[in-house]
Amino acid sequence: MSLSSWGNYPKIKSKIFKFDKCSTLLNILNEHNDLIVYGNGRSYGDSALSRNIVKSKYHNYFLNFEESTGLLHVQAGVMLSDILDIFIPKGWFLAITPGTKLITVGGAVASDVHGKNHHLNGCFSECVKAFKLMLSNGEIIKCSRQENSELFKATCGGMGLTGIVIDVEIFLKRIESTNISQVTIKTANLKETFEVFEEYANKEYLVAWIDCLAKDKKLGKCLITAGSFSNDGDLDYQAEKRKKYLLIFLHLY
Ligand SMILES: Cc1cc2nc3c(=O)[nH]c(=O)nc-3n(C[C@H](O)[C@H](O)[C@H](O)COP(=O)(O)OP(=O)(O)OC[C@H]3O[C@@H](n4cnc5c(N)ncnc54)[C@H](O)[C@@H]3O)c2cc1C
Repeated sequence: MSLSSWGNYPKIKSKIFKFDKCSTLLNILNEHNDLIVYGNGRSYGDSALSRNIVKSKYHNYFLNFEESTGLLHVQAGVMLSDILDIFIPKGWFLAITPGTKLITVGGAVASDVHGKNHHLNGCFSECVKAFKLMLSNGEIIKCSRQENSELFKATCGGMGLTGIVIDVEIFLKRIESTNISQVTIKTANLKETFEVFEEYANKEYLVAWIDCLAKDKKLGKCLITAGSFSNDGDLDYQAEKRKKYLLIFLHLY
């Protein structure tokens, strides 16, 4: 079957395998040693494409949550959107989240994604405590800043080339509201854009929408949006259609 990622190019004829358990993955690995993982295909280009693809989306159980620390343990195929659906109403949010929530936790680790709070909080790896990684020989090892730390660093942003991320422990952050108190500032040129960035650098979220058609003195003019979570106590969140396993998890939690 022909498979592509975001942008729909290139399309590569691929044999697709699905894994929900490590034993299944091991069997696939024994048969094919030229595999790459496909999370939710939201990466640009061909990073998740190969002749043999293993889809991680079926490996998607929530394993544990520690209310006292915000430490969440999930299998790598869990989507960020699923985490938000469950945890926002309880006053928790992803510490780092990119411009789409439709990605897997494994994909977030592999691309070490960044969000609009990059200037304060860095990339996704900053909220990762540890993960389990299946190496090409089928061995599963734990990686953290203390254990197999070189592999931990190489896997965060390693685009799936160090092995297959099996499950991940991430810290969520506390929120008191789903609302963001924000301002939007219009700048006239690049110099002003940088000045406004400096001025609002203490805001949790900061992003510029640059007018790429502006030229000469107007080069770099943009709309900057700066904001931080409100503390108005409004945690009302319309979760999208929930899946059965999410309801099971909620029942347990
Ligand atoms: C609309 C849109 C907005 C975006 N905004 C941002 C943004 O603001 N910031 C940002 O950083 N990125 C952004 N991205 C990019 C996106 O967040 C990343 O490409 C992300 O990695 C996609 O995750 P995925 O689960 O879809 O993985 P895929 O696209 O399927 O795979 C991406 C890479 O991760 C590897 N991978 C996936 N799962 C695993 C696993 N379990 N183990 C090992 N390797 C694995 C794949 O092999 C591949 O190399 C955006 C993308 C879109 C479409």
